[in-house]
Amino acid sequence: MLDIKITRTTTPKEKPTGPLGFGKIFTDHMFIMNYTEGIGWHDPRIEPFHDLSISPACVILHYGQEMFEGLKAYKGVDGHNYLFRPDMNAKRANVSNDRLCIPHIPEEDFVQAIKAIVKVDEDWIPTEPGTSLYIRPFIIATDVFLGVDTSKTYLFMIILSPSGAYYPEGLAPVSIWIEDDFVRAVRGGMGFAKTSGNYACSLIGQIKAHNDGYSQVLWLDGVERKYIEEVGSMNIFFKIDGKVVTPMLNGSILPGITRNSVLTLCRDWGLEVEERKISVDELIDAQKSGKLEEVFGSGTAAVISPVGKLRYKDDVMTIGNGEIGELSQKLYDTVTGIQLGRIEDKYGWRVLVD
Ligand SMILES: *Cc1c(COP(=O)(O)O)cnc(C)c1O
Repeated sequence: MLDIKITRTTTPKEKPTGPLGFGKIFTDHMFIMNYTEGIGWHDPRIEPFHDLSISPACVILHYGQEMFEGLKAYKGVDGHNYLFRPDMNAKRANVSNDRLCIPHIPEEDFVQAIKAIVKVDEDWIPTEPGTSLYIRPFIIATDVFLGVDTSKTYLFMIILSPSGAYYPEGLAPVSIWIEDDFVRAVRGGMGFAKTSGNYACSLIGQIKAHNDGYSQVLWLDGVERKYIEEVGSMNIFFKIDGKVVTPMLNGSILPGITRNSVLTLCRDWGLEVEERKISVDELIDAQKSGKLEEVFGSGTAAVISPVGKLRYKDDVMTIGNGEIGELSQKLYDTVTGIQLGRIEDKYGWRVLVD
């Protein structure tokens, strides 16, 4: 149990009134905790949201020793505040920590800190349909040293951002660019960890895709550039000839919590589910023979993101006439229904904040 010291702001900000967008507005408070080698994690506290003051020689600025997480708080239909599977974020945080040589945070402390900061800023949880309070826990290495070594001091912080409906007009299919030149991660690298470097190296693909009118990038494996891996911040699913197929977790794919929830639901619904290698050629063949029924991404931000168009080199594939698939819609309705408490939560995924 953390003994969290709370200092409330004396100058609360105005709550936003217009469209929220994503990640642009921050709440009144933040959670901070220090790590010092020999002492461990210490001084957990909630303070008014503020800028940091760090040395220009700080390790994080040069070598990217960092991890982050992402989850959301929702105002349930019963008026209480809920999180979705935060224990999974706590576990994954430590998997990322291991890869980045960052000290563990006990899972229960991680979840306690999230609950505490959400409680303090609960008035910031938006209530319009599709909106939520995005939660960003992260750790940075703070030693002041230019040698390449693991830091002996860290900061764990949690910031909160009210975010708007991902699809204000209802689920809308996105177009995806399959990147055949740059890669995001390789086996043995850090693709399975949620860390800044994976995003830094993906920006270039994002720019290429945007320049061509596509909204997201689908990455291929880093060795042969032949097997499907994942979208920038989403895992990817295909419905091929009645079966649900998704790339297996091979070390270079981020193990999404939404991915896990989708797999659980599909299996429960009696669908045939395959976690395996899937090549881009297999995908093109399936599309040509009319067996590619649906494509969708899964991730905390959009929950389920139907894909209407895929481009690979000169091949442009239109999926299901560019409309939302039945399974995509059902998954979206079920996951968001459980999050808000509209649907019975038989898996115990919803966690009460207060
Ligand atoms: C966070 C993330 C996902 C989605 O994970 P969720 O836990 O479902 O939000 C997928 N891919 C990458 C690269 C990510 O960083």
